Amino acid sequence: MASHTVRQKLPHNLSYFFRRLNSTVPSYTTTAAPPLKSAGKSTSFTFLGNSQIPISPLPNLEDSSTLPKTAGKPNISSGKPNTATDPVLNLHDSEKLFSSVSTPKLIKSSITLQLASAEPMVDFGMWVMNSKFMEIPIIRKMILDVIEYTFYEHFCAGKNLKEADKTVKRLWDGGLRAMLDYGLEHANDNESCERNLDEFIQTIESTQTHPVSPVSFVVVKITAICPPILLKRISDLLRWEYKDKSLHLPWKLKTFQVFANSSPLYHTTKRPKPLTIEEERDFQLAYQRLTKICQKSLQANIPLLIDAEDTAIQPAIDYFTYSAAIQYHKDDEPLIFNTIQAYLKDAKERLVIAKRDADKMNVPIGFKLVRGAYMSSERKLASCLGVESPIHEGIQNTHACFNECADFMLHEIANGSGSVVLATHNIQSGKLAAATASNLGIERDNPKLQFAQLYGMAETLSFGLKNAGFRVSKYLPFGPVDQIMPYLLRRAEENRGLLATSSLDRQMIRKELIRRLTSK
Ligand SMILES: Cc1cc2nc3c(=O)[nH]c(=O)nc-3n(C[C@H](O)[C@H](O)[C@H](O)COP(=O)(O)OP(=O)(O)OC[C@H]3O[C@@H](n4cnc5c(N)ncnc54)[C@H](O)[C@@H]3O)c2cc1C
Repeated sequence: MASHTVRQKLPHNLSYFFRRLNSTVPSYTTTAAPPLKSAGKSTSFTFLGNSQIPISPLPNLEDSSTLPKTAGKPNISSGKPNTATDPVLNLHDSEKLFSSVSTPKLIKSSITLQLASAEPMVDFGMWVMNSKFMEIPIIRKMILDVIEYTFYEHFCAGKNLKEADKTVKRLWDGGLRAMLDYGLEHANDNESCERNLDEFIQTIESTQTHPVSPVSFVVVKITAICPPILLKRISDLLRWEYKDKSLHLPWKLKTFQVFANSSPLYHTTKRPKPLTIEEERDFQLAYQRLTKICQKSLQANIPLLIDAEDTAIQPAIDYFTYSAAIQYHKDDEPLIFNTIQAYLKDAKERLVIAKRDADKMNVPIGFKLVRGAYMSSERKLASCLGVESPIHEGIQNTHACFNECADFMLHEIANGSGSVVLATHNIQSGKLAAATASNLGIERDNPKLQFAQLYGMAETLSFGLKNAGFRVSKYLPFGPVDQIMPYLLRRAEENRGLLATSSLDRQMIRKELIRRLTSK
């Protein structure tokens, strides 16, 4: 089989990226069965077990009456700040927010974010990257050089572990920790998976060099250690087993339930064939890779964050993650954090089910909550198949689902079990979670509650949360420039337009620069 390693050259990475960016359906989903009829009309409800929970709009944080009432429980934070009159986060004092950032770095960030928010600039950049120019070595090198000194430096930690380590230390000096993410995308054969395993192991080993680790997590993508085509096969089998309990999966290990009543099952419309001997062998190899990563991270005492991807393969990712979490943990501390994407209609139900299963088995597990990054490809696949989209109908429902999942985990933490990473750039979600944590009496430096933002993004929120006393990490991709390109283009896409995520940052950085340049 031809090697499609992530180290392949730019055109492959770009075609992967453009597939995602242009919202086409991932290649491994193209074998999907013929269209199904819609599973039902879309609603603005999310489903938890048999009960319908209306998704509420975002509360106004200036208005205490809209703060969460902690699910019928009284506020258990006697003596804690009253968040209605004493806002937990101060996001307006630019001097305090950027006190650890040098003026040259602020100027550079301001220019880069400004460029990344200009739609024509992003469109032009993406056109160039997708053009035949990239096949001319000298032009390709020039373009990559420009990118390296602008976007790459802003959004990435460095080309290798040594460079990333400098960025980690700089963040640490500013009071932030790092989630180290070796920039790997899908690997399609065992050879590339083995190479990626080595990269993960080296990344974990690098965290041991610090006496007190400024690295909070090592990030793992299951698609980098198990070919996505196999994850799709496993997901199909798991889905069918959920629908038809008579299906026996001989290779299946102990796990938590990965589906909920509201989970989409449309990807699998006919009984899948059992894994072939070769597939079963590849599956064992992939699981062994994950166990090697877990053993190494146990030794290094560094937890793992498993990224979530698209719904066609997510059941297999969840299965790998939960099976490994059952096998590997540090006494009461979770070693593994799975990711829940709140833009999915079944997100909260799956979160609650997995947490309850973990509690029953006495297994500590952490969760990273995100909104989700594969929205257009998910919608496109559902539309191709003629089924209801798995994504919430409107952004408000996604916001509400994220906040409800966060609220659920904060209550679990207040009750003494659970760990969560709230991975978001959304100011309202950040403020709401900070206020809820305070109201529930969760200490701000409680290691069970962490916040995270991508490196180079949402600096105002990161520093605001850090200044309030919360634990904050930046998600730090590193790796060679051409390898990181798909990640960078996703960031450019996320920052485009006037209402881009970076608008508050641009405003606050400008305010701080003016303050510094005009004060004596
Ligand atoms: C530390 C970290 C780790 C991450 N890891 C992952 C990961 O493992 N897997 C993953 O998929 N993503 C991951 N992400 C990306 C994340 O899912 C989001 O794409 C990104 O953070 C923006 O969401 P936000 O919470 O910051 O919210 P906002 O800044 O408020 O962004 C909201 C965005 O959500 C989108 N959206 C969601 N639902 C809807 C809807 N129903 N209708 C319209 N628009 C909608 C829109 O594009 C909108 O721009 C991660 C992000 C961070 C910060």
